[in-house]
Amino acid sequence: MRLILFGPPGVGKGTQAKLLSGQLGISHISTGDMLREASASGSEFGRKAKAVMDAGQLVSDDIMIGIMREVLKSPRCEKGFILDGFPRTVPQAGALTVLLDELKMHIDAVINMQIEERAVILRLASRLTCRSCGTIYNLTIDHLADPKVCPKCGGELYQRDDDREETIRKRLNVYLSSTKPVQEYYARRGLLKNVDGMGTIESVNASIRDLLGRA
Ligand code: AMP
Repeated sequence: MRLILFGPPGVGKGTQAKLLSGQLGISHISTGDMLREASASGSEFGRKAKAVMDAGQLVSDDIMIGIMREVLKSPRCEKGFILDGFPRTVPQAGALTVLLDELKMHIDAVINMQIEERAVILRLASRLTCRSCGTIYNLTIDHLADPKVCPKCGGELYQRDDDREETIRKRLNVYLSSTKPVQEYYARRGLLKNVDGMGTIESVNASIRDLLGRA
């Protein structure tokens, strides 16, 4: 199965993508995670990408399409994939269609996760991620004994640099101007499936599996 998880920052794409990847046995491809790994590596590209991310802006389409070209051709995508954070612009969506045609693949569904704007700000500002296992926590929901330590693996919990309120507002504006139009691109192709992203992790996961016929 080949899926795209779509929605504004903070809707829970990363959390649901991780769950679905395990449940459906397909690769989780997160462009944000790839860029954060590049940034942690300290490479020149990583440093440039971090500056763009910290400003709440988007990395250029050419670079992102180039990265996805390599990833989609790699063995990790052979059994299917779930894209989290790509495509984020209409040109990226168009390039993905061309790329998948070349590879004789197609997208089965685009899951459009919906959430109210004020919930986005609250969720992102209270989000913590584990440096070791990648689990995402929310300080308003998860009762952590120590907000610096992952209860699952003991790894260090950190707040993403782009999860500061001022940057969150910029990311939301970029979402509305550049990313939201991608919905229309997939709606016209009959692939867009709406899901309410406001429920618990479990209930949102159940709704997604339900609409995929994998309940
Ligand atoms: P995410 O983890 O998906 O919220 O992505 C974090 C940041 O990485 C975004 O705010 C962008 O700066 C950058 N990014 C991730 N995916 C893309 C993409 N497909 N196109 C452009 N920039 C991206």
